[in-house]
Amino acid sequence: MQVPFVDLAAHHRPLRPALDAAVAEVLDSNYFAGGPVVAQFEEEFAAFCGSRFAIGVGSGTEALWLSLLALGIGPGDEVITVPNTFLATAEAISYCGATPVFVDVDPVHHTLDPELLPAAITPRTKAIIPVHLYGQTADLDPILEIARKHGLAVVEDSCQAHGAEYKGRKAGTWGATGCFSFYPGKNLGAMGEAGAIVTDDPTLAATLQSFRDHGQSKRYHHSRIGWNARMDALQAAVLRVKLRHLPRWNTQRRANARVYQELLADLEDVVLPQEAAYSRHVYHLFPIRVPQRDQVLRDLAELGVMCGIHYPVPVHRQPAYHHLELGIGSFPVAEAAARELLSLPMFPELTRSQAEYVVTSLRSILARPVEHERRS
Ligand SMILES: *Cc1c(COP(=O)(O)O)cnc(C)c1O
Repeated sequence: MQVPFVDLAAHHRPLRPALDAAVAEVLDSNYFAGGPVVAQFEEEFAAFCGSRFAIGVGSGTEALWLSLLALGIGPGDEVITVPNTFLATAEAISYCGATPVFVDVDPVHHTLDPELLPAAITPRTKAIIPVHLYGQTADLDPILEIARKHGLAVVEDSCQAHGAEYKGRKAGTWGATGCFSFYPGKNLGAMGEAGAIVTDDPTLAATLQSFRDHGQSKRYHHSRIGWNARMDALQAAVLRVKLRHLPRWNTQRRANARVYQELLADLEDVVLPQEAAYSRHVYHLFPIRVPQRDQVLRDLAELGVMCGIHYPVPVHRQPAYHHLELGIGSFPVAEAAARELLSLPMFPELTRSQAEYVVTSLRSILARPVEHERRS
């Protein structure tokens, strides 16, 4: 049996007629960059999140970058985030001219550890970007409380958390802005690059709309220096079709996680992802902690089970951030996660028999005597 890491073909097959029609509609409308379909998607995505405004942009990276720009963050400022994230979170900070300051994560959920946050705050700190990693929000209340006390903005990196909830309210609606990516493999994916920012603040929404469209107040009148960060109409049309299915897909991901949890419960060597009491996890990924991770990854691939690593090198250890001079041991929890976590296949269409095959394969690999020798 072959189990892919994600299966976009299976994901899109039942939607094909609706997607074809949506693309044809855009062709007929002749609006391609921004326009009415983008505005419709923005309205529907804002409603889905339960926020007042959504601003469609070109990617999740742009959503983060423009959020920070709109909050006035620039050279000399510091923005706090976590080291175990996709590079984009830190890139957005750097592209404003600000400096990323990292705070380690808690060892159970791998999200920003609020207890470590106060020590990272300096007079230059302007904002905090908690990352809702793997489909589960960070513990937002203590983070928001600390932010309020110090007058800091919170920008939620919700790029892996479409539809996830914290204490019954959606990810992305707690901070000044929530940033989403619609990269094809995300829980809600476009047919190319796209992203969105949600906010309840009308001034911030207007600033973001201006920033993503060359700072235009009206056509060819530019009140500020912005950027071309508009959402494509084709992406918006595809996203409108797919958004209607997102709640069901998230429910299926949760059901798949329960199957894994059930089938793996007795394996002492394996640590499973945990849903926090405050959270509704949407399992963008299903990372487990296994001994000899790299060997297990290779052995699973040989048996036809494709896994991933999220992420093999923490941001502070990337050559791109060499200049921050943060050595090994700076953030031990994030560094251990990079060494030990293995993401199992996880997508809504994963079948019971596929999940069973993943677990049987993993069991056979972990039971091998040679593995025990390597481990000891
Ligand atoms: C995907 C992702 C991004 C970047 O989104 P793009 O649409 O690829 O630019 C940022 N942060 C996290 C945590 C992500 O997973």
